[in-house]
Amino acid sequence: MMAKIFINPGHDELSLKGTPDYDPGAVNYDIPLYENEVAWNVGNLVAEYLEAAGCEVKVLQSESLRHIYESANEWGADYFVSIHCNAFNASAHGTETLTYPSDVEGYKLAGCIQAQIVDSLDTLDRGLKARTDLAVLNGTDMPAVLVEMAFIDEEDDAILLRDNQDDFARAIARGVTDFLSE
Ligand SMILES: [Zn+2]
Repeated sequence: MMAKIFINPGHDELSLKGTPDYDPGAVNYDIPLYENEVAWNVGNLVAEYLEAAGCEVKVLQSESLRHIYESANEWGADYFVSIHCNAFNASAHGTETLTYPSDVEGYKLAGCIQAQIVDSLDTLDRGLKARTDLAVLNGTDMPAVLVEMAFIDEEDDAILLRDNQDDFARAIARGVTDFLSE
């Protein structure tokens, strides 16, 4: 199983902190918790677990969506996984995984990851959602998924995102290996 997995922690790289247009993604100021930091931590743990499972992995967090999907395409990734936290109205909660509508393999991969997260974190299962408007799903040549692990602006989900990053990472990695062994 030498699949090449491209991991994209969502939003701007942490090194841009303090620059004018810095986009940390969604923020929970009460904790405080920043989406791009959570995604970075989880993404790198996912990479460790997938490498231990025999995958080749590349991690890229970037302010340029085009740079992300072009890097995945040039590297010749077999699968692409973008990692995010959701935010809405401070009461919506749960996990959802997004794919491009015609991406059949991506949909299967999304199902495996979604099931593992909901199982191990006990988050609300909001299901798989088709999205045509996301550059990382449109621009990638390989099956691609975008995981919205939980809602950073909802109290219980946010605590999970703060305290259970390793569990999210293990669940995402197991979802990938479940898919690869199908
Ligand atoms: Zn995001």
